[in-house]
Amino acid sequence: MTCVHIDDDKTKYLDRPYGRVGRKELKTKLLENCASSGVRFHKAKVLNLEHKEFESSIVCDDGIELKASLVVDASGFASTFTEYDKPRNHGYQIAHGILAEVDCHPFDLDKMVLMDWRDSHMGNEPYLRANNSKIPTFLYAMPFDSNLVFLEETSLVSRPSLSYMEVKNRMVARLRHLGIRVKNVIENEKCVIPMGGPLPKIPQSVMAIGGTSGVVHPSTGYTVARTMALAPILADAIVECLGSTRMIRGRPLHHRVWNGLWPLERRCTREFYSFGMETLLKLDLNGTRRFFDAFFDLDPYYWQGFLSSRLSLRELLFLSLSLFSNASNPSRFDIVTKCPVPLVKMMGNLALEAI
Ligand SMILES: Cc1cc2nc3c(=O)[nH]c(=O)nc-3n(C[C@H](O)[C@H](O)[C@H](O)COP(=O)(O)OP(=O)(O)OC[C@H]3O[C@@H](n4cnc5c(N)ncnc54)[C@H](O)[C@@H]3O)c2cc1C
Repeated sequence: MTCVHIDDDKTKYLDRPYGRVGRKELKTKLLENCASSGVRFHKAKVLNLEHKEFESSIVCDDGIELKASLVVDASGFASTFTEYDKPRNHGYQIAHGILAEVDCHPFDLDKMVLMDWRDSHMGNEPYLRANNSKIPTFLYAMPFDSNLVFLEETSLVSRPSLSYMEVKNRMVARLRHLGIRVKNVIENEKCVIPMGGPLPKIPQSVMAIGGTSGVVHPSTGYTVARTMALAPILADAIVECLGSTRMIRGRPLHHRVWNGLWPLERRCTREFYSFGMETLLKLDLNGTRRFFDAFFDLDPYYWQGFLSSRLSLRELLFLSLSLFSNASNPSRFDIVTKCPVPLVKMMGNLALEAI
């Protein structure tokens, strides 16, 4: 079970389990799958890519040059290999997290705290309260036992990004208020996730996957599950082109793989999720609370589908209408007064996609 603290008086209980990904275990599993499928590795830093009509060259820092029919860039958000033809106006998710041994904590062992928007810990920290009211952060807490807990203070999205130090200070204040004394930090997380912004240029000579390909959920920052769900789709498109006897290469190949990852429907739903991010950017603490109050009152199919990027465009339209009709009057006022510009932008982008 999962819970969301909207404020001091309201907590929502959600019938949705969460788990923590074992990074090392996941990496080992993926590498083992590669090894057993005959993937060969070359360990080096890529300095440059050069593209010809039917072939690309990968120039490595060890002097080796590799040739490929297709290069897939998985080098993360800061990649210089994948091109963008529009300004990259990201939002940023900033978080400070720790896996810690503590004396004790107040969390139920059978519940994960997905979001704690309470701000009572700022009673003694007026210097933090003012900014938190404008750009709020929440606590995410996953207790493993009565002395071991994962804690993360998160700014869901900000632009320009909220300072990491501020997020850290807010977490210190919150833990003090909750009476949590950290005995030992087992793992430390500094999280910066660029979210939203335009998709890469489609198509282009290099294919992309992961953070540089636009698959990060623009309203939540979730990436890992989505990348893993989309990777086989991309792999199938590549096999279809390069694995057939009549090889499809060059521009037709680039067309097929990019449109395999980003077919029209998926591009349109991404516009919708980006609209969600633009809306969140406009909300202060009270607006954010009202938003999530209405959001988690939706039919679970819709809020779970939204968080997991599973909804079709039609379902997203239905979600928006339900959200508006479920929302409190102040929340509707927020939507009407703060969302027209992002809404018009989204409509414009949807129209451009449809042309
Ligand atoms: C602290 C933290 C917590 C997060 N929590 C979550 C979460 O709970 N759920 C979720 O879904 N997402 C989460 N994310 C986001 C998610 O981890 C990232 O979006 C994801 O790692 C991006 O994956 P990627 O493979 O595209 O890039 P990266 O993970 O950045 O991997 C890129 C790889 O490419 C290599 N590389 C870069 N340049 C070159 C080069 N020139 N030559 C060769 N290799 C190169 C890098 O060394 C690196 O190994 C979190 C991120 C952080 C930082």
